[in-house]
Amino acid sequence: MSPMEGGALAKKRKPTTTMDHQTSSSSASVDNNYFNVSHNHVTDNKKNKKKKKKKKRNKAKPKRYSLMSYWELPEYMKDNEFILNYYRANWPLPQALFSVFRWHNETLNVWTHLIGFVLFLGLTMVNLLRVPQVADLLGFFARSTPISAVTNVSRNFISQMTSQEMEIAAAGHEMSGVAYWPFYVFLGGSMFCLFSSSICHLFSCHSHPLNLLLLRIDYAGITMMIITSFFPPIYYIFQCDPRWQFIYLGGITIMGVFTIITLLSPKLSSGKFRTFRALLFASMGLFGIVPAVHASIVNWGNPRRNATLVYEAAMAFFYLTGTGFYITRIPERWRPGWFDIAGHSHQIFHVLVVLGALAHYAAILVMLDWRNTFGCDNNNAT
Ligand SMILES: [Zn+2]
Repeated sequence: MSPMEGGALAKKRKPTTTMDHQTSSSSASVDNNYFNVSHNHVTDNKKNKKKKKKKKRNKAKPKRYSLMSYWELPEYMKDNEFILNYYRANWPLPQALFSVFRWHNETLNVWTHLIGFVLFLGLTMVNLLRVPQVADLLGFFARSTPISAVTNVSRNFISQMTSQEMEIAAAGHEMSGVAYWPFYVFLGGSMFCLFSSSICHLFSCHSHPLNLLLLRIDYAGITMMIITSFFPPIYYIFQCDPRWQFIYLGGITIMGVFTIITLLSPKLSSGKFRTFRALLFASMGLFGIVPAVHASIVNWGNPRRNATLVYEAAMAFFYLTGTGFYITRIPERWRPGWFDIAGHSHQIFHVLVVLGALAHYAAILVMLDWRNTFGCDNNNAT
């Protein structure tokens, strides 16, 4: 199929021609004297030994596994009939691991979330280590978030957030006593989701049992990301009213645990339940409308209100659009086989998940800044 595979075939053919040549040369020597015959016999033995060594070496070399079409796949891997080629199936673990550097229909699914994971790991490290340039980086990040162009309100707000202000806020969180753990819970949940997703896409081609296990871990990861995303906004918005903190965080945690238990059933990991799974995730996400409306009413006078709302609206847009691509399998259903390597729905879904998480991260920074600046006494300060 590929030039490389053609090369491998040519290499395989070579020893056969040498062998033919040797057979003819040894048959010619039969007419010669005894010395020549025995001499030829010795050289033949040497050549045979060399050949055996060559064969052994070839055996030791890892086999290059070839990609296959949808129709050749084992039943457990038939998930998307609109992606026709470039599948890996029943690959040993080392081959699956190194296929991260090969082109197949999961390459971009792995990389989109692996890059997202590294990005969130970097943000976590920067926040944990409190590097002096943190504030600048965060300010830059917030400015470069796509939705900063949506409204002038958010743009003005971001431009007002000078690095000095952010540094004051960062230094102030120790003095003001604003807890940072809900922020790290969200970062941890996001990293778990992005990493488990990359691992799932890389190794689920290994075997049916591993495929089922990794799919369930992937779904648990998505659920974890949704639950942990609720922690910072609910915690910071209702910081001055722990009763609501408890009700909302308790509610979403119970929903999340229920979802994880439901998704642990291997039956629900199959393609048939794609819409059911998507609706389960979406309903968990939409649960957030209740505390969001409540928070907006309670904190209407909050000077950071518009910026927060814009970022959270962007997050909802990214997540819901991503879910739409996941369910409908657009665009590959329009042109089966065209988007096998790049541009199919799952890759778009992955990118939108990372963008949604980044928009939420920006919203949390605004909330943290608000709590650090105004504390509890000035809940509705303008
Ligand atoms: Zn995925």
